Amino acid sequence: MPDILREGYSADVIAMEQEYVLQTYRRPEFVLVRGEGARVFDSEGRAYLDGVAGIAVNALGHGDAQVVAAIQAAAEGLIHVSNLYHTEPHAVLARSLVERSFADRVFFCNSGTEAAEGALKFARKHARRFSGQEKTGILAFSGSFHGRTMGALSATATEKYRAPFEPLIPGVCFAPFNDPVAAEDAITDEVCAVIVEPVQGEGGVHPATVDFLERVRAACDQAGALLIFDEVQCGLGRTGHLWAHQAYGVTPDLMVLAKPLANGLPIGAVLMTQVVADTMVPGDHGSTFAGGPLVCRVAQVVLERISTPEFLADVRDKGEHLAARLAALVEASQLAREARGMGLMWGIECEVEVAPILSAAYRHGVLACGAGPNVLRLLPPLTITLAELDQLVDRLEVAFDEVEGRD
Ligand SMILES: *Cc1c(COP(=O)(O)O)cnc(C)c1O
Repeated sequence: MPDILREGYSADVIAMEQEYVLQTYRRPEFVLVRGEGARVFDSEGRAYLDGVAGIAVNALGHGDAQVVAAIQAAAEGLIHVSNLYHTEPHAVLARSLVERSFADRVFFCNSGTEAAEGALKFARKHARRFSGQEKTGILAFSGSFHGRTMGALSATATEKYRAPFEPLIPGVCFAPFNDPVAAEDAITDEVCAVIVEPVQGEGGVHPATVDFLERVRAACDQAGALLIFDEVQCGLGRTGHLWAHQAYGVTPDLMVLAKPLANGLPIGAVLMTQVVADTMVPGDHGSTFAGGPLVCRVAQVVLERISTPEFLADVRDKGEHLAARLAALVEASQLAREARGMGLMWGIECEVEVAPILSAAYRHGVLACGAGPNVLRLLPPLTITLAELDQLVDRLEVAFDEVEGRD
């Protein structure tokens, strides 16, 4: 065990990271060593209320007894055998996802980007089978984020993520998010798939409007295009509904999941209807790690817990409370312009860059993150208590005041 009480421990860890790890992230100047519920602790013993939950991953918080027990039990059984063989947790998890959703079939993978990648491939094959060689177009939207692999990145709008790696895959177009007329114009007969986040996450926490999703759905039906909902961030209870699209009453043909599904172990999933599934045959797509018995057993625990009506009602109640508190924060602060979100997924649009506000929040014991330069994002564990949520916002108010120079 590393001696975290040793003088200089965190400085050493940070120096090592900076010397050896590829520098694709800017991290704050502390080292996290432990978590408990909605709190994490750094090596100096400071506690932080976790308003990030590993980017919407630790839905059940840290150190959840059932998650820990599932990992231990699974590790003593089988961790991995590959997709060449049958294992029970894989089949059981697929059935559980199907029983709780619009879908008939599930493909497992290891991350959100892989799930988006898979969905785009399945849509291409579906169009090729039913509509010939020309129907290959993909429509995505401004502000979208679907991941970092070449395919998922091709459908991600943010220019600075794309530009260094071009050329990306051809045939992807973008229309303005929440503009139904522009979407209807863009969903032509050449489009095989439309991919959209019902609540955009990385793009700044922007919920879609009901009208937008309804008209995108209708335009897809008209053009024979498949509708893919990317619920990697907004799905699995985050909005207070098991699936974000249930709040809209609009159903996709495919849905991609990842972040919270195994509470921190890597997993992704593509859910689809039978007609989409029918176009895929053995050998068409695959993964070495995906759907392993350990990760699926843990995901089963997560899915069973978060999909009960009581759990989801509790998320909605806490979400309403958080909405009211953030509206008051915006009202009181010169720096905050607007709070947007659903359930326990919120963004505070600021007049300034959020980096100094995030730093002040760290000093006051809160983890929050950005969603673009001007939006402060909150994605706490879904199990956070009302009292913890209040304390988190209290501290955030202090951080806003401090940056504004009002303390
Ligand atoms: C995080 C995210 C992804 C990518 O997931 P990774 O697991 O980081 O590959 C894709 N789509 C959305 C909406 C996301 O929030």
